[in-house]
Amino acid sequence: MTEIEQIPLDFGGFGVNAYVIHAPDGDIIVDAGAEPEKILAAAKQPVAAILITHNHADHISALDEVRRETGAPVYAHPTDADGAEIEDYEPLSDGQELTIAGEDILVLHTPGHSPGSVTFVVGEDQVVGDLVLPGSVGRTDISGAAWEEIEVSLRKVMPLWKPGTRLLAGHGPVLSAMEEMKNNPYLPPVFD
Ligand SMILES: [Zn+2]
Ligand SMILES: [Zn+2]
Repeated sequence: MTEIEQIPLDFGGFGVNAYVIHAPDGDIIVDAGAEPEKILAAAKQPVAAILITHNHADHISALDEVRRETGAPVYAHPTDADGAEIEDYEPLSDGQELTIAGEDILVLHTPGHSPGSVTFVVGEDQVVGDLVLPGSVGRTDISGAAWEEIEVSLRKVMPLWKPGTRLLAGHGPVLSAMEEMKNNPYLPPVFD
């Protein structure tokens, strides 16, 4: 099973996570919000790709440096990429199935916290950006955010949750999807 490593970073005194997906044929970086040297130290060169969950500063502020040092292609949803003036990227779309470095990654467009937020499904695990946070969900009181969309997005990712699913969120520790389902008051009930 592919290991996904959490890289906790300090964004001006505020904790944010990047991740390194250790795929069979190479490493994939997800988000680059701060401390580029820490992200680069965790990923083996040549890095196969840099995936972006959404375009907020705490997730992309180190992108230019990480991209320059790795030369890896950047994947982002066009709405958020264009919103943050990210250049030369591979556009992500809902339901897209990527195969990068021998790993299959399902892309789900999960707006609400930002219009171009995406979730990456890797095996049973999900890299959710700020869609789900420990005991909470991403802020919707900011520009481009909408609670109604977060709820639709949650209903898109939650049916894929399995007993062993881990949620790799933009902030806080690695989460168990089942624990969040039990204890997170912001998640809608799931009906089959
Ligand atoms: Zn955010
Ligand atoms: Zn964030």
